[in-house]
Amino acid sequence: MNKKIWLSSPHMGTEEFLNVKNAFETNWIAPLGPHVDGFEKDLATYINVEHVAALSSGTSAIHLALRLLGVGYEDEVICQSFTFSASANPINYQGATPVFIDSEKETWNMSPEFLREAIIDRIANGKKPKAIIVVHLYGMPAKMAEIVKIADEFQIPIIEDAAEALGSFYQNKACGSFGKFGILSFNGNKIITTSGGGALCSNDKLLIDKSRFLATQARDQAPHYQHSEIGFNYRMSNVLAAIGRGQMKVLKDRILKRRENYQFYFNQLSSIEGIKFLEEPKESLSNRWLTTILVDPKKTNGCDREKIRTQLEKVNIETRPLWKPMHLQPIFKDFPYYGSDVSEQLFDIGLCLPSGSNLVFEDLDFVVNSIKNLF
Ligand SMILES: *Cc1c(COP(=O)(O)O)cnc(C)c1O
Repeated sequence: MNKKIWLSSPHMGTEEFLNVKNAFETNWIAPLGPHVDGFEKDLATYINVEHVAALSSGTSAIHLALRLLGVGYEDEVICQSFTFSASANPINYQGATPVFIDSEKETWNMSPEFLREAIIDRIANGKKPKAIIVVHLYGMPAKMAEIVKIADEFQIPIIEDAAEALGSFYQNKACGSFGKFGILSFNGNKIITTSGGGALCSNDKLLIDKSRFLATQARDQAPHYQHSEIGFNYRMSNVLAAIGRGQMKVLKDRILKRRENYQFYFNQLSSIEGIKFLEEPKESLSNRWLTTILVDPKKTNGCDREKIRTQLEKVNIETRPLWKPMHLQPIFKDFPYYGSDVSEQLFDIGLCLPSGSNLVFEDLDFVVNSIKNLF
């Protein structure tokens, strides 16, 4: 059997291990330490926001953002339906209600039309949503000009889930820098990884200071341990931040390689009748975290997404259906939803192809040929 070709696996550069060694040599294993400070600065500079808190995960970053916006019991929070469950779960951690919004077809992200409809309808129902969680799925920037305009009009803060979009830009501005908060993830399969980790970004110093306070158990100023607020254990360790600083040095290369992967798949497969790619709108630069295809079985003589997925699995190639929309998930199906069937259709026919920056030509060529063989 050939070696396994993964969807997106960790890809270390040359400095990560040296940085970890340095953390050990200086005994900055915990708590926090200079690599955490350095990683936060690297991230702030890269996405051009003033303040960043390095955290234990992207999920914890979303949770803290909601907490800092005062989202609580019986509040409503708008969330893109077409996403990974971690975008929505923290709404429920706060005892609030998610209100899901369908996608538009151009970027597969939150539809500005349905967003507006939802806000107007929720207000008419007596409750103005407390926040909007918009996602840049697979690295493709959402239609931020329209979404920011609507959010400003109704004065609702945006939490920008850029977990998949570090290195993506919209109108030359980095994803993660548009909202009141931006969140990043350094989970194992993301474009760069610290094995696990995340970050909360904002231009508001007080909010990021507060996030650091909440993330370290909300200790009041006192020699003993005293607490006037419920805290969390959400900070990133200095050892993991050491990895992150090394990864930041190779981020540019990782983006280039992932974009090359996309271009290779596009060149090789886009002429097949019934296979479509998500193309980049003029105002956007996607990091192409994952390359995705849509497979229309009506045009491929019945060869559908599942046939491709299972055939590739047999030859040790990992692929994955697109995210199943939140409004279709058993746990979320009873919450409000505004939209039509755009995200549902994408889920039905979409497939993520192996997209790691460590894939070599032979890997990509093998994937392409294994797909071509089915046609
Ligand atoms: C990965 C991911 C997250 C969560 O990040 P973790 O670091 O795994 O907690 C949130 N939203 C999206 C869209 C993601 O892909």
